[in-house]
Formats: sequence, structure tokens, C-alpha cells
Amino acid sequence: MHSIENIAISVEDLTTKNEVERFKVYTLNQIDQIPQLAQLESQTVWAMKVVASVLPFRVNDYVIKHLINWENIPNDPIYQLTFPQKDMLDKASYDLIASLLLENSNRSSFDAAVKEVRARLNPHPAGQLERNIPSLSGVPVTGVQHKYRETVLFFPSAGQVCHSYCTFCFRWAQFTGDQSLKIAAKENAQLLEYLRANPQVTDVLITGGDPLVMKTSNLRAYLEPLLTPEFEHIHTIRIGTKALSFWPQRFVTDSDAGELLDLFRRISKSGKHLALMAHYNHWKELEPAIAREAIQRVRQTGAQIRSQGPLLAHINDSADVWARLWQTQIQLGIAPYYMFIERDTGARRYFEVPLVRSWEIYRDAVKQVSGVGRTARGPSMSADPGKVEICGVAEIRGEKVFVLRFIQARNPDWVQRPFFAKFDPNATWFDQLKPAFGEAAFFFEENLS
Ligand SMILES: *Cc1c(COP(=O)(O)O)cnc(C)c1O
Ligand code: SF4
Repeated sequence: MHSIENIAISVEDLTTKNEVERFKVYTLNQIDQIPQLAQLESQTVWAMKVVASVLPFRVNDYVIKHLINWENIPNDPIYQLTFPQKDMLDKASYDLIASLLLENSNRSSFDAAVKEVRARLNPHPAGQLERNIPSLSGVPVTGVQHKYRETVLFFPSAGQVCHSYCTFCFRWAQFTGDQSLKIAAKENAQLLEYLRANPQVTDVLITGGDPLVMKTSNLRAYLEPLLTPEFEHIHTIRIGTKALSFWPQRFVTDSDAGELLDLFRRISKSGKHLALMAHYNHWKELEPAIAREAIQRVRQTGAQIRSQGPLLAHINDSADVWARLWQTQIQLGIAPYYMFIERDTGARRYFEVPLVRSWEIYRDAVKQVSGVGRTARGPSMSADPGKVEICGVAEIRGEKVFVLRFIQARNPDWVQRPFFAKFDPNATWFDQLKPAFGEAAFFFEENLS
């Protein structure tokens, strides 16, 4: 269907024919230096500044030049993915920040207002900060989250930024500079100790931000110890990243790209499974030749690439977009993994889609791909008790219901048991759902302490 041209370009071709692109990034302070914004109305750019005072903003030159079609503003999906839009804040919040910016108010009242608006945006959904941080002999393990039995998440401090920021990011609060909201570890001694003490853990997922913003030497220091015999119980190392979309040069032309691929090769050869959990939102991210070259080079190391990403209004709320995304991924050797529902945080008001609509989009997309593309599970909500999949809508004894199940749960025994919620055409998140059939609680609620 979508032919794969240019896939056989060698690295030499890329480095000689194409200039080696240097990483160049813009944040709020440099927003006026982005040449492409000069063509927009000044009001639009002003609104970006207001919103970017609250939500993180960061975009690099590759995204601006190669992923966004500036002839299609404001509808271009990658523009929506990276540039702040007025309606991402509710009117009251927007007006408050805009008026303070306009009157050039003093720093402390401005900061206080920003803080207040951020606090309204549910900065730590699903109890991330309080509920998932494990402890060792009563001491919290910094930079680690452990929610599901098999898998430990690790947040290295040097990886708590991304090559660009997504406007819908569920981890946005980590990027706002507020230390109290950060989860990150400077070194991995505590992680290793925790893994030694927990032999039931099979997976370590290095995440962020984007861990691949780190230099390879940094990343190696985190990962190499896991290859020693005492961590034999770790079967799978996963790296959560959007670098394949936002900065594919990381795997091709960056000065330590070769070293990175060598590290991947070493991990694969060690007998562990290495998986890049690649964040993709739109098939456009897979179009540039360098993006495809990066995928090919990663696959040649023995690492696998699995894809995941949320369903979002303004970006990908269309079955055809998802079908084409999955189809292209399959051709390129990427395994579709999760379709998420936009979480109840940050700019969710702008991106949320009714649950029933998400399910229809999933279903209409899955119908269009063969079995190898149907490995994408979802649509799934990462809620406090676990990852809840919407299996569908059904009518049972005259009552219209959502059929749900846990893909992952705090209590492993909850997994794969179907349960039912009253159908609600407007619900966009799990906390808006009520048990069906007049029941007082969902089956797992009495156990959720
Ligand atoms: C999604 C998630 C994982 C990984 O779950 P898998 O289903 O194994 O991919 C691990 N920890 C947390 C907190 C998660 O949200
Ligand atoms: S790449 Fe991931 S962590 Fe980074 S801004 Fe996007 S969604 Fe957030």
C-alpha cells in the first residue's frame, strides 16, 4: 500500500549526501527565533507564549523542517503535537496568565499564578508520585516506580528531557522545573540494590523524559551492570523513547550513534531481550528517509521496536490514520503494542476523545490491518488500579454497558477478568464510569487500599 522507498540508503550516503544536521532546539525564550512562525498571525504566537508559560514547550529544528507541513497550519498533526494552542488552557486560566503577561506583572505574582494554574491540571495522575515509589528498608528508592509485579521503571536524571515536547505529555509536570514534581535518580546504585532484592522482577524499563537524550556513555553506565550474572532474572530491558520520531539522527549521524548501536548489540548478544518502546502518534513521523534509516539500524542490532501512543483529538482521532500508522510500522518491522487513551492531566481538555469514540476508532483501524498489525492492544487507560482496556460496548439484559478488563493491574489477579460499567456516551476517563447492573462498586475496589 505505502511503498517503502529509500530504505536501502546506506549511512555513508546519509552522511555525505545529506549534511549532518546539528541538534538545534527552541524553548519559550527563543520562540521568536523560529522563522516559520513569522508567517502566522501575531495573535497565534502570543497565545503560544501564554500557554507555554504553563505547559512545557520545546521543539527542535528537525521537527520544524521535516515533520511539519507549514502549508497546513493549524491542522497539521505534528504542529498540534509540538506547538501550544490557545484552547489547551481553559478560558479562566488563559485569561489570568495572559493578563499578567500583558501588564508585565512582577515575577512573584506571575509565578504564583502559573503555579496555581498548573495545580489545577492534575500534575500527578494515577497517584504516580505517592503510590508507585517502592522502598528498601523503609527508604524510598529515588527515580524508581514499581507498580506491576514484573516491571520496574527507572527515571535516570540525565534523561528527564526530550528532543521535543509533546503538547499532550502526561509527564509534563516533570519538565516544568518544579523540583517537588520531579521523579529522577542521579545514579543507579539504589536501582540495582532494589533489583537484587526483588528477583520476581523480569523487566526494567528505562524511561523519562527520553533516556536517549543522554550520551551513549551515560546510558551505558546505567545499562551495563544489568548484564552481569547477578541480574540474570532481568530478561528484558526496555527503553521508552521518541527519538526515532523527534531525532532519528541519534541512531544515524550523531557522533556517538555507532556506540549506541554497539551497546544495543551487546545487550542483545548477552541473551536479554532489548526493546525500544517507541512513541509514535502519526504515520507522518515515519516518512523521512532518515527516520526509516534509524529504524533499520536499530533492528540490525537485534533490538526490537514496539510502538505505543495515545489517541488524541486534533492529531490522530481517525481510524484511517491509525491503520496507516500500523501498516507502515509493520512494513518497517515495528510491532504495534499499545493504543492509549489520553490521560486526565495537562491539556487533556483539548485532546480528550469520548471512550466510545476511541473504541470505534480502534475497531475501525484494526479491521483494516492483517493479524500481524493486530498486536496493538487498547484503547487502554493507565488509571490508578491498572491499565484498563475498553473491550467494547454491549447490551446485556437490556442494559447498555462498556465491557472492560485489566491488561495490567496492581494486583496481578485482576488481569483479564471482564467487568462492566454503565454506558456513558460522554465519558472520557475511568473515574467517570459507574458499575453496571446497579452494583455498588467494581470488583477490585474493595481491595484497593
Ligand atoms: C505501562 C506500564 C508498565 C509496562 O506495562 P507492560 O504492559 O508490561 O508494557 C510498567 N509500569 C507502569 C507504571 C506502566 O504504566
Ligand atoms: S516524548 Fe514522551 S515524555 Fe517526552 S514530551 Fe512526548 S510524551 Fe512526554
